[in-house]
Amino acid sequence: MTKRSALVLFSGGQDSTICLAYALARYDRIETIGFDYGQRHAVELACRPKILSALKTSFPEWASKLGDDHVCDVSVLGEISDTAMTRETEIEIAENGLPNTFVPGRNLLFLTLAGALAWRRNISTLVGGMCETDYSGYPDCRRGTLDAQELTLSRGMERPFQIDTPLMWLDKAETWELAEELGGQALIDLVIEQTHTCYLGDREHRHDWGYGCGSCPACELRAKGYETWRAKVPA
Ligand code: ZN
Repeated sequence: MTKRSALVLFSGGQDSTICLAYALARYDRIETIGFDYGQRHAVELACRPKILSALKTSFPEWASKLGDDHVCDVSVLGEISDTAMTRETEIEIAENGLPNTFVPGRNLLFLTLAGALAWRRNISTLVGGMCETDYSGYPDCRRGTLDAQELTLSRGMERPFQIDTPLMWLDKAETWELAEELGGQALIDLVIEQTHTCYLGDREHRHDWGYGCGSCPACELRAKGYETWRAKVPA
């Protein structure tokens, strides 16, 4: 039987860390890819190596599956887009109804680059934390977009690609629940301590759910999901 391998799109955030744990539980060989596009404060990227080493320490059974980590410079995104993720502007909802943290084409570009790397590494499954349920309404996080991208990659590289999106239909509370199922309290603690989602790059303020400013849309989503999940589980 051939070993099943996967390339995980791993940003250093809560969702992609839980996706990485999911892939470690499900696949035999895992590699990771991250993208440097001049994110605000790049705090999330700095969390990546710490998360990887914490995962290896806390979960020895996963350590042997974890292969190379790749970081791709896509600073070109900052040159061609003008959004709150690549510039120092206030986060708000734009006239088109999308938050101005939306970087047009970002996930499409990431998946294309991940596909190219996967092709070279002989991996046919990409794993990503895209989510339709309570995400910020980004059209490139919807499953329909990913189905189209899967087909594009498969045809364009003449190799069957799958894009596995374990969080697609989960809300944030269910995402915490999945983390608990995958790695118990050790994984919950790791996600709280090591991952980063705050848009403002705040690592000074520690809440029950982790670090962040507590008031940006990403913090609000993370806090609300955590509180909803905690309310459901017995103390
Ligand atoms: Zn925040």
